[in-house]
Amino acid sequence: MRIAVFSTKAYDRRFLDRANAAFGHDLTWFEPRLDLTTAPLAEGFDAVCVFVNDRLDADTLTLLSKGGVRTVALRCAGYNNVDLDAAETLGLDVIRVPAYSPEAVSEFTVALLLAMDRNIARAWARVRENNFSLDGLIGRNLSGRTVGVVGTGRIGALVARALRLGFGCEVLAHDVIEDPALAGMGVRYVDRNTLLRQSDIVTLHCPLTPATHHLIDRDALEAARPGVLIVNTSRGALIDTQALIEALKSRQVGGVALDVYEQEGDLFFEDLSNVIVQDDVFQRLLTFPNVLITGHQAFLTEEALAAIAETTLSGLSDIEAGREPSNRVTAALVRPSA
Ligand code: NAD
Repeated sequence: MRIAVFSTKAYDRRFLDRANAAFGHDLTWFEPRLDLTTAPLAEGFDAVCVFVNDRLDADTLTLLSKGGVRTVALRCAGYNNVDLDAAETLGLDVIRVPAYSPEAVSEFTVALLLAMDRNIARAWARVRENNFSLDGLIGRNLSGRTVGVVGTGRIGALVARALRLGFGCEVLAHDVIEDPALAGMGVRYVDRNTLLRQSDIVTLHCPLTPATHHLIDRDALEAARPGVLIVNTSRGALIDTQALIEALKSRQVGGVALDVYEQEGDLFFEDLSNVIVQDDVFQRLLTFPNVLITGHQAFLTEEALAAIAETTLSGLSDIEAGREPSNRVTAALVRPSA
């Protein structure tokens, strides 16, 4: 199959090339992000292979379809950046990588939480300047604290398990589907408001859908425990960032660890160190001593990249051969309840 790979980084190329030895697809690399302006690059290709910040709205999908593209292969789990109704109308196949390595993301989530709460990044910056003062670096034990896990699918379940069994936290969970194995470990399912009211730490692991957009908004932050820590390695728009900034200023929120940001499409995955960044909301977030941000790297392990490449190319081979791929995304996934 002729595949136009967008948002290509050196590591994508390395892992896709290596996996492609078993599939023999014809891969063409494009560094730009896929959107309406870059869609013409895909003319004449059978498929596009895209990542989290490529924008596949109805107009872009229509243009791709006119150019001959029949399949969209997401090399990520989330599919919030694709207009699935438009894809369905146009008869485009959409596939994703539902579970490439939940361990990669769950381990990073715990690392980010600890790094924020124990001031590890700030300590490292000090030590590099021979400043060995410990003032301002006091953290708190995780053990015994109450953590609320929103979304206990593949990633959330591993986070809940690690915090419950590994760190001895009280774990509350909220999901539209409950996982009996977690309940068996002492994880307690509660409604969203109870989770917010009772948790010292809230970590988000549900997908971004219309139902979860700005799940953490002004009201949710007001309902939370004073000094609550918020962790988000899922999707940026689960949080209303402006409301989060207000809550940080009032100290209602005591710390934030983010791997995702709602306007990350304009920033992440690029070296902007010589650019004047225009996003004042993001710049304000960076000024808080109790906010730690990484640029959507929770997935970035050797194991995850190898699995992403394998699942993506194998799904494309299924479609080429007329077999039903196991990783198809349909519009039904984002309809209410999902
Ligand atoms: P999953 O589908 O296995 O789990 C998601 C869970 O969220 C499910 O149990 C689902 O029932 C639940 N859910 C859905 N709607 C909900 C709602 N309204 N309230 C509460 N729970 C709800 O997905 P996963 O593999 O665990 O991934 C979770 C998210 O992590 C993905 O959607 C993706 O956005 C994000 N992710 C981020 C990275 C990264 O690098 N930062 C990498 C992979 C995935």
